[in-house]
Amino acid sequence: MTEFRALLMNGPEGAQLCTLTEADLPEGDVTVAVEYSSLNYKDGMVLMGQGGLAKTYPHVPGVDLAGRVAASDDPRFAVGDPVILTGWHVGERHWGGYAGRARVRGDWLVHLPDGLSLRDAMLMGTAGFTAMQAVVAMDLPPESDVVVTGASGGVGSVAVALLSALGHCVTAISGRDAKYLQDLGAAEVIARKDWMAERARPLAPKRWAGAIDTVGGEMLARVLSSIADEGAVASVGLAGGTEATVSMMPFLLRGVKLLGINSVTCPAEQRAHIWRRIATDMPMAQMKDAVTEVGLDALTDLAPRILSGEVRGRTIVRLGDA
Ligand code: NDP
Repeated sequence: MTEFRALLMNGPEGAQLCTLTEADLPEGDVTVAVEYSSLNYKDGMVLMGQGGLAKTYPHVPGVDLAGRVAASDDPRFAVGDPVILTGWHVGERHWGGYAGRARVRGDWLVHLPDGLSLRDAMLMGTAGFTAMQAVVAMDLPPESDVVVTGASGGVGSVAVALLSALGHCVTAISGRDAKYLQDLGAAEVIARKDWMAERARPLAPKRWAGAIDTVGGEMLARVLSSIADEGAVASVGLAGGTEATVSMMPFLLRGVKLLGINSVTCPAEQRAHIWRRIATDMPMAQMKDAVTEVGLDALTDLAPRILSGEVRGRTIVRLGDA
């Protein structure tokens, strides 16, 4: 029986590296030989036992994975097919990608689109998928002015690179250095502390047609007040807070739309469309300085750091030879 390495949690805190066999895996109709996973904000929460995301133990975290089908009872997937999985509460309620094998439902899998490698798929991962989902939802006119918050994070970095590659003029709001974001394609970088120090108003001068907000809280409220007539804000995350006091003025006087983005339950057809758009539109080379590749052994140290906003860009987790 195939043995593989896994990061296993026996309780809400304290993940340990161990060796498992396929007999240890939960039930499912497709077994995937995982080549890559990635580190996302939610993985930090699961690894640190925050938010009650993992319901049962023992548990293997990892909210996304890319690999090849090793065994399948689902006629849509043949042995050897390259596949991607994001969402569906994998890595939270189901064992996830931080193991050499994953057993999952075929309904959760997407075939890897042409033009994308398995590594590229996890360079994007849940963060990149969500950034593209937000771009599709906003449906901006060409050459729009757009703002990205939490811009140096995983979702933010992909969003900046993607929006600029699509021809939009991107402003990044960030607590980190401007050079990194300019290299990703940001035309302007606003320091987070300067932005938050400005006087908050229900309606501020109109600056942007769209926004991808990964921070939430007070940041979301401030961004909403600066969106131009008929603009859209894609609310993606809450790294800076779950609650915001939001004025109704931007909605009523400017027709601003607030779009909730949920990558976890995104319907299958839209999911495949988003991955195809990633394969065709995402400037992968642009991300070369925004990616770090690690093994399973690095994740327990990285978990608290992603929650405090210290992890820059995307972190890929290599499983293949782990
Ligand atoms: P990261 O940790 O990689 O990025 C978050 C960034 O937010 C930080 O790098 C930092 O960037 C900024 N930030 C601002 N204020 C804070 C704060 N108080 N604490 C921590 N960070 C702060 O996370 P991800 O990009 O992976 O995820 C961002 C958010 O999006 C999370 O809330 C996550 O749960 C959510 N998410 C939602 C999805 C969905 O389906 N809706 C899918 C994926 C993620 P800077 O210094 O540049 O300001």
